[in-house]
Amino acid sequence: MHADEECFTEQPQVRFQERVRSNIPMEKNSYSRAEVLAAGNTLPERGPLCHECGARIPVFEDIPEAAEKRVRECIRENRPVMAMIELRYATGCSLGWAKLWVQHSAGPKPARKETPCPYCGMPLRTSLAKQCRFCWRDWHDEDNVVQARANVVDENLHRLP
Ligand SMILES: [Zn+2]
Ligand SMILES: [Zn+2]
Repeated sequence: MHADEECFTEQPQVRFQERVRSNIPMEKNSYSRAEVLAAGNTLPERGPLCHECGARIPVFEDIPEAAEKRVRECIRENRPVMAMIELRYATGCSLGWAKLWVQHSAGPKPARKETPCPYCGMPLRTSLAKQCRFCWRDWHDEDNVVQARANVVDENLHRLP
């Protein structure tokens, strides 16, 4: 293949990957205690992205297991303010971070509006989905997007009487 041609054909592929990857953090996802303290009141820039409110949910590297358990107990008992106090005490984080964490203790929430599959454009089950029920692509591992359809068809064939 001619060098120019090669360049031309590879370009869209690169753009495509960038688009697909833009939603996921590339490097470290979490914060050490020192980083938490340094961040202060500025909102976290990394951590799982909530699709409903657009916030990053902080991940604390140095929270003691027992403390996290206490925080989660408070949340279960419907005492969010106490949970935030416990979390701040355990991590040194700001009120804003504690609120984000407690509000998202079950993980990021999906977007309210329909999200198209990045590969085929059909609607995903939720914006947090990592696989598509229409084109069968599965991008749990962004570096290894698989298409499971062949396997499913095979399995169904085996089930036929
Ligand atoms: Zn949210
Ligand atoms: Zn799809």
